[in-house]
Amino acid sequence: MAKHTMRSGSRYQYLFGPVPSRRLGRSLGVDLTPRKTCTLDCIYCQLGRTTALTTERREYVPVADVVAEFADWLQSGGTADYITLAGSGEPTLHSRFGEVIERIRERTRIPVALLTNGTLLNRPDVLEAAAKADVVKVTLSAADETLFSRIHRPCRGVTLAQTVRGQVRLRDGFDGQIWLEVFLVWGVNSTPADVRRIAALARQVRPDRVQFNTSVRPPAEAFAEPVPGGVLAELAALFDPPAEVLAEFSAERSEQVGVTEETILAMLRRRPCTAGQVARVFGLHANEASKYLGKLLRTRRIRSERRADAVYYAGAGPGTRSGR
Ligand code: SF4
Repeated sequence: MAKHTMRSGSRYQYLFGPVPSRRLGRSLGVDLTPRKTCTLDCIYCQLGRTTALTTERREYVPVADVVAEFADWLQSGGTADYITLAGSGEPTLHSRFGEVIERIRERTRIPVALLTNGTLLNRPDVLEAAAKADVVKVTLSAADETLFSRIHRPCRGVTLAQTVRGQVRLRDGFDGQIWLEVFLVWGVNSTPADVRRIAALARQVRPDRVQFNTSVRPPAEAFAEPVPGGVLAELAALFDPPAEVLAEFSAERSEQVGVTEETILAMLRRRPCTAGQVARVFGLHANEASKYLGKLLRTRRIRSERRADAVYYAGAGPGTRSGR
């Protein structure tokens, strides 16, 4: 079958990629919410600050249109390792996401992954829908309500206790894989004592895999600094099974046509832009734009700067120190 490539934002409105994913190989993204519609406003979010902080579940995008796009993608020879419900916000806020999974599964044997923060899994309808996926990736990055509020800045009524309860209930009735992401932020939840307490909660969830993540891509808040790789490797042993430290995929492996780190860098040297502007100019999904910017920041070819309410990225001249 011919390898299928596309430019996000042109051919499809709700599908993006396939993009290289650190967890999932080549992943076709299915975006079920408007940008930054989420139950949380995580300080490390690679999509910036949450603009619609909510627990309201509704059909944010029409299921029929999503399914029609997916059918078209399959028909034109689309292949991927996973079909992934993820993207611009929290997919379980979509009131019919379970039906989207069903419609996808009727049409393909490619496994379906749900990337969720897990905060709504305490609801029976969300739990039942989530269990239709092959893999559910949940997040658990705090061991008490104070830290949960500090890291995730949740919507009113969303608590760590309900989040853990929902994740445990999912495990109790689900044969598929649960991958538990622990997002560590330097100086916020990264001491061995913090991580030991998170590991104790994780044992209640009994995930198949535990995966460490840190701010390798530009975070919503500049103070959400990444935890060094060596420290992550030491902390990994505190989990059972031991946590995997996800290696960053190279953005150069993206299948986007005509977009490279160099073309993005060339533009940022001329004109500072926000991540959203980079995405729009190059026809990338926000996640993909963020991968490129993360790589350019880590290699100090660009720097970031917060102005008013937005983070701008600009080329870092020779000898100029990165802003991060
Ligand atoms: S990281 Fe995920 S859960 Fe947190 S604000 Fe961003 S989209 Fe929401």
